[in-house]
Amino acid sequence: MRYVRYVVQTFFLGSVIYLALGLGSNGFEAFCPFGGVESLYGLFKTGNFTCALAPLNLSVFLGVVGLTILTKRSFCGWVCPIGTIGEWINRLGNSIWRNRPHIPVSADRYLRHLRYLVLAVVLYYTYTIGDLIFRGYDPYYIIFSGLGHETYGWMSIAMLSVFILGSFFQPMFFCRYLCPLAAVLDPFSKIGLVQIRRNKETCVDCTLCNKVCHFGVQPMAVAKVTHRDCVNCLECVEVCPIKDCLEVKAL
Ligand code: SF4
Ligand code: SF4
Repeated sequence: MRYVRYVVQTFFLGSVIYLALGLGSNGFEAFCPFGGVESLYGLFKTGNFTCALAPLNLSVFLGVVGLTILTKRSFCGWVCPIGTIGEWINRLGNSIWRNRPHIPVSADRYLRHLRYLVLAVVLYYTYTIGDLIFRGYDPYYIIFSGLGHETYGWMSIAMLSVFILGSFFQPMFFCRYLCPLAAVLDPFSKIGLVQIRRNKETCVDCTLCNKVCHFGVQPMAVAKVTHRDCVNCLECVEVCPIKDCLEVKAL
């Protein structure tokens, strides 16, 4: 299953690169679900979309919300190119410096709330200024536009450096701490109808599932994984040595 996910991630990353090279009928920005969130205020306030791409952004966003209600944050673990790049940078880190420092678990718990602050700031400025101010700080835009004309010079380069360095040291750094879309999806992810279930009777408490989880979800601690950060990557299911101890089930 791990390799199926890698193929799916590669397909979506390749598709975005294809669009970023100008080979598609729409640009790569048209498929950013967070653009749909940013367009909502203009839609409610004026009844119109403020940007030509907004209807497509909003459709993608609603599709991602539906996917999240069904399968938790699978969008982040299977589709989002920034999740993919962040994960691959961290895997590279594992292969060249296995014992590098990580953010302590006690701090990680609080830092995960930072994304709600990021969301609040982005929406406040987007809605009051009426412009997509997050674009120049968004790794998605910075990378796929090639530091395009809407970036903010050294500030965008600094943001990209934070993304790369953070991903190197901490698994899913941007997704955990800074992604405003993750903050929007969290309540829908809590609903997540498709979840990992753990059979307490057969579990031998080997901790392998906890160790493999990039989001630090700790499936060994629960009977069913309702944690908002679970992306249903199924790595824990794959690593579990006991047959059918961890299973994917729908409510
Ligand atoms: S709990 Fe399992 S399925 Fe969920 S993110 Fe962690 S490893 Fe992936
Ligand atoms: S990997 Fe399987 S057996 Fe090991 S702790 Fe997790 S659920 Fe239990």
